[in-house]
Amino acid sequence: MNTLESKLGEVDPQIVEIASKDLTRQQNSLMLIPSENYASRAVMEAQSSVLANKYAEGYPGERYYNGCKFMDETESLAIARAKALFGAEHVNVQPHAGSQANMAVYHALLEPGDTILGMSLSHGGHLTHGDNVNFSGCYYNVVGYGVDAKTERIDMEEIERLAVEHRPKLIVVGATAYPRHFDFSEWRQVADSVGAYLLTDIAHIAGLIAGGVHPDPVPYSDVVTTTTHKTLRGPRGAMIMCKSEYADKIDRAVFPGLQGGPFLHTIAARAVAFKEASEPAFKIYQAQIVKNAKALAARLIENGFRLVSGGTDNHLMLMDLTSKYEKLSGRQAADHLEDAGIIVNKNTIPFDKRKPRTTSGIRIGTPMITTRGMKEDEMIQVADFIAETLENRQKASIKRRIREKVNEFCAQFPIYEYLG
Ligand SMILES: *Cc1c(COP(=O)(O)O)cnc(C)c1O
Repeated sequence: MNTLESKLGEVDPQIVEIASKDLTRQQNSLMLIPSENYASRAVMEAQSSVLANKYAEGYPGERYYNGCKFMDETESLAIARAKALFGAEHVNVQPHAGSQANMAVYHALLEPGDTILGMSLSHGGHLTHGDNVNFSGCYYNVVGYGVDAKTERIDMEEIERLAVEHRPKLIVVGATAYPRHFDFSEWRQVADSVGAYLLTDIAHIAGLIAGGVHPDPVPYSDVVTTTTHKTLRGPRGAMIMCKSEYADKIDRAVFPGLQGGPFLHTIAARAVAFKEASEPAFKIYQAQIVKNAKALAARLIENGFRLVSGGTDNHLMLMDLTSKYEKLSGRQAADHLEDAGIIVNKNTIPFDKRKPRTTSGIRIGTPMITTRGMKEDEMIQVADFIAETLENRQKASIKRRIREKVNEFCAQFPIYEYLG
């Protein structure tokens, strides 16, 4: 399997060598970071196409550059496919990444100093939902919400109480590390009760929503943002969906508000991903992600680990390490697992006593191992690899042996066989 053009090998063998080594790593590791995926070969080809060569500031039909006929065709196709896939009234496919998409929404609908109600980073929210190290926490007055201490789930009565008390102009619902469903109709009610805009950030769960295995926020939200490279399995990038009444504001906030020229090559790749996501196989894939997450969660619990909120409804889970190994931090656990070829990331758990750089948890997701064809039976093996590694974390020779077993296991699921 060689996804790299041979010309690149001639011109820059160093880059080819680095990329080839990472291809080997991607093949031989159990990649369990829930925000990552393997983009298809078709998506990667579109990204490396000549569409990268053109400036096209503006929107289809109203560009600030000449020679944009095919840029217009590309972007219009991406927009039409995204609208059909999500049932959105208006779509902007230009944001370079999820953070820029959220920034554009704030820029469109808020003034600096306005109040946002968003999920705290330490409870599973994203940096751009108002964290104080992020622009969102600097320019807006942020009120954070978290999960209930006992259930570790969002408590809608608490959200309502915070909304009534702080009267936010915008409420952000969505997360990077929340293993449960959101009830979007309830969020809509809370937003309406205080006259707030409702922004739903589906960066993590967009694929699940497109695949019909997660509640759909589009009918309930004023604006929906998403990345295109997580469960949606497209190229790196993002998009904003909104009701028609906000279309002009959103478009102007993206360009000329925040960005210059759109990346038409990745917009073309987004169009390819939307096409792939509209095919029946994608629904089956998304359903399998969820089945795999449930199977993996169940087996981790059998291995004595506690999962935040007791399990998962989506593609990810948060493992609370303190329940089994008091002294083991998320950071250490993730490093030990990497020694065995298992790639996860450290993550705070709700009410974590450790700092974000250390953490007491790890976040585990099934999108990538599902892409390569693994099913429920394999999840038992994956959970056991994790448990065995952490149990033997001080024993380098055992970790090496597990590394070899992980290699052999991964060899049965060649990554690009499933993607064409
Ligand atoms: C990943 C993520 C983003 C940001 O995406 P980038 O492309 O990394 O900027 C925004 N919101 C949520 C909820 C995310 O999970």
